[in-house]
Amino acid sequence: MTPSAQTLLRWGARRLEASAVPNSFWTAEQLLAGRLGCQTVELHVESPSVPEEVRALFETDVASRSGGMPLQYLTQTAGFYGRDFAVGPGVFIPRPETEVLVETALEILTHSPLVVDVGTGSGAIAITLALERPGLQVLGVDQFSIPLRFARANARRHGARVQWVQADLGSALAARSVDLLAANLPYLDPAQSDSWGRELFWEPWAALNGGSGGLHEALRLLRQASAVLKPDGGLLLEIVPDQVEPLKALARANGFRWDRVVRDLAGLDRVVLLWKN
Ligand code: GLN
Repeated sequence: MTPSAQTLLRWGARRLEASAVPNSFWTAEQLLAGRLGCQTVELHVESPSVPEEVRALFETDVASRSGGMPLQYLTQTAGFYGRDFAVGPGVFIPRPETEVLVETALEILTHSPLVVDVGTGSGAIAITLALERPGLQVLGVDQFSIPLRFARANARRHGARVQWVQADLGSALAARSVDLLAANLPYLDPAQSDSWGRELFWEPWAALNGGSGGLHEALRLLRQASAVLKPDGGLLLEIVPDQVEPLKALARANGFRWDRVVRDLAGLDRVVLLWKN
């Protein structure tokens, strides 16, 4: 007899719980609904019986999640700014704190300038800006082809008009062409990796590793940015709170004036806005 969804959910939740996965029952629901191609509520309203091959896939998913693989890689989707983005191994999973960066960009973008999402990954920032402000010209840049494949697929899925470029940071951008650079660059300091959740180790190292102090990539971009930005162009960067002061000094030394730091929903300093002098 094929097991019911309820039986599988209870089994999955117990197994996940034993591996210290938070929200174990909810996680089991997400995994099973994903495999059945239904909404989680249907698991309870209809309690469908689960075909053998789906059960096998679900059990593999539960084992993978128990081993630390991020849920988003298993369901192949991550929510960002109210939309679903396709993700998978090889691309950074968009985080809610980056929505603050998008909101700040939307506040300061008044007419139809060129905005560039540097290190676009799944394309979450670029695509969201293009959809929220259809007048914008948006460019998404990433160094690697796997993220760009996801970004292109996500743009098609949402009908967003974004131009994609494979390049290292701002190296492919024309001089004095850009109104706003918006970037969630890698900013974690590998010296602190002891405190990282185990899920992080499944994500591309290149999307996380900010070198000692975490600001290596930010500094490389700052050095390129004054050449590619128009006069009075802006630079929005996602950071962690202890980078505010060092970044202030780096910004000044590289021809930028400090505007503000914006907090995320957890109350942490998360996004800085700088203007080219
Ligand atoms: N926000 C991510 C985290 O702390 C890090 C992202 C990044 O390095 N840009 O999990």
